[in-house]
Amino acid sequence: MYPWLESASHQLTALIAEQQLGHALLLKGVSGLGKGELAHYLAKALLCQHEKVVSNTSNGVPCGHCHACQLVAVNTHSDLHFLSGKSSRIGVDAIRHLTQVLGESARLGGGKVAVLEQADNMTEAAANALLKTLEEPPGQSTLILTTAHAERLLATIRSRCQQWLLPVPEPSLALSWLADQGVDTTVTALNLNQGSPLATRDYVMAGTDKRRHQLLKQFTQLLQQPTTLASVQEGLLENKVHLLWLQLLLQDALQLSLGLTQAPLQLADNRALSQQLSQRGSALLQQALTRLFELQRTLQPSSGRPVNSALQLGDWLNQWLAH
Ligand SMILES: [Zn+2]
Repeated sequence: MYPWLESASHQLTALIAEQQLGHALLLKGVSGLGKGELAHYLAKALLCQHEKVVSNTSNGVPCGHCHACQLVAVNTHSDLHFLSGKSSRIGVDAIRHLTQVLGESARLGGGKVAVLEQADNMTEAAANALLKTLEEPPGQSTLILTTAHAERLLATIRSRCQQWLLPVPEPSLALSWLADQGVDTTVTALNLNQGSPLATRDYVMAGTDKRRHQLLKQFTQLLQQPTTLASVQEGLLENKVHLLWLQLLLQDALQLSLGLTQAPLQLADNRALSQQLSQRGSALLQQALTRLFELQRTLQPSSGRPVNSALQLGDWLNQWLAH
């Protein structure tokens, strides 16, 4: 179990031991905390046969070696069902099928468990079907839902679940865990990933953090090397988040140009760059930021009209260079 989930997993397995866990559990928290792993662990705890034998010594923790635990470990337990909204939406047929199998008697004689990962990615019909299931839970079954966007779930679904908010770990804990995984990184990278250790690991491993340093450096040097304009433009359009990096860098530069040198920077590990950009003066930086916000707004898919993002960003960059 990830160190930042230990406390939640102790408390939840204790509830299982005391048979106080409701028939529906909702695990909430930012993505990349390991909610799916925790759900899997709790499913194992619920299905473990060991506690039934020595119930007075049970603390709800799965024994790991009984038949049920072994089947859960390799995902072949016939009373454990998974649905995931990770790569595609969860449809109504999947929910109906799940409700039906949960209504059948358990193959291994214990309870039944269903895990719905990224449950917020359900169609409306699926959500309504699930609501019925939660109102009348079939047999001895437990549903474990996970979500990073609880607000996207029907309020009536949320209210029928026992809700657990999994906290983001302290940066020091996250960084020491990352170091143990061989991931050398900074608080800035962690902050850019909402403090999530798993998301930060993937972000660093994919070379995205390296790309941030490279792209922002290239942008900062643009005034001296205007020939790299096309490459900077292309780089900034690669991903929505690249414009966010630019925004944070310019905000840091503005802060420094206003003489607020003691306040922490959002991109602390790009201080040399924001320092350099701060030389352009607060008026110009403020203006560039206002136009950048406007640009970000128009590039949002919800703005309703098709936009030529390359053209718009090109304009922005040319104005940046013109002053
Ligand atoms: Zn067991």
